[in-house]
Amino acid sequence: MAEDLDSKFRSPEAYELARLALERLETHRVWPTPVNYELWSQVIAEPNGPLARELERIMVSGEPITDDLTEQLASTFLPKARLSEQIRDTGQALSRELATAEQAIRSAQETSETFSNRLEETSRTLEADPSGSALQEVVADLSEATKAMQAQNASVERALAASTSEVAMLREQLEEVRKEAATDPLTRLANRRAFDDRIELAREEAEAKGDYFCLVLLDIDHFKKFNDTWGHQTGDQVLRYVASVIRKRVLPPRFAARFGGEEFAIILPGESLFEASPLVNTILKDVSAASIRRRSTNDNLGIITLSAGIAGYRAGDTIHELIERADSSLYKAKRRGRNRLVVEGDG
Ligand code: GH3
Ligand code: MG
Ligand code: MG
Repeated sequence: MAEDLDSKFRSPEAYELARLALERLETHRVWPTPVNYELWSQVIAEPNGPLARELERIMVSGEPITDDLTEQLASTFLPKARLSEQIRDTGQALSRELATAEQAIRSAQETSETFSNRLEETSRTLEADPSGSALQEVVADLSEATKAMQAQNASVERALAASTSEVAMLREQLEEVRKEAATDPLTRLANRRAFDDRIELAREEAEAKGDYFCLVLLDIDHFKKFNDTWGHQTGDQVLRYVASVIRKRVLPPRFAARFGGEEFAIILPGESLFEASPLVNTILKDVSAASIRRRSTNDNLGIITLSAGIAGYRAGDTIHELIERADSSLYKAKRRGRNRLVVEGDG
């Protein structure tokens, strides 16, 4: 039996065995290390032998083929005395198959350029040395190259992981900057620039779907007088208070922004004037419900009120026209006594 095998590995058949062994390694996505190569060569030479049966069992069970496992299989199934001899013989066949091996390794292991260069080098060495005297060295060299490749893969993986987390961090920072650029620093609501972008998007959506969309403008009443009485800083505190009420009430896809000075805007995509009005009335009521106190002195600042105007998008409107109509409704609310909402078309 041993002689049968031996003659198989030394016959012209050996090249076919080597090619088949490589194919198996590729199919099972097993590293083409000398030991693995040796194991699979053995399986092909002896398809019904104990090693073949054991490997079949392992494959069916789905157990992963690790380095530990192949070492264990080699020590159990490959007779020590023959091991180096077989490696040498099959290694010689392997050297003739390097082009195939390279192909297999490339597709199966997505190996590195460095590793394939190393294999080619080895191939040349063997071709230049048909006597096989350098085989031991070549096998050691291949083994070392494999380890180097594995180490390199690991370090590439680490580098990739590091650069992935670096990219994730940069992305987070970028997101932070983007958010800052769209946020009003005093009130933390969306700023005018973000409003301009959002309303254009709402317009495009309304045009595309033939859908409703509304715009509300809100303005703090008699705010100049408030500033004159209590000072600009207390005025800022009121702006933040009003913004906090608006933020609490306006949830996506509705969108609130500081429109300018003491004015706020709310975009209501997909909503009619009729649907939007209750939200605005709730905000006006909330703002005026609390009597607020100056933080520094606890002085009662009285009641803050808002006036609001609302307009609905009409097909073909420009944003400018929509804002004009919302603004003129707001102006009516002021003229009619403030602390109220005027809906476009209301007299
Ligand atoms: P009306 O009821 O007609 O809206 O009267 P008003 O006084 O609120 O309107 P006006 O446009 O005359 O004054 C707006 C004031 O808002 C003037 C300005 O000092 C104040 N204001 C604008 N931006 C800020 C700000 O960021 N902080 C403070 N504290 N005040 C601001
Ligand atoms: Mg104003
Ligand atoms: Mg005002």
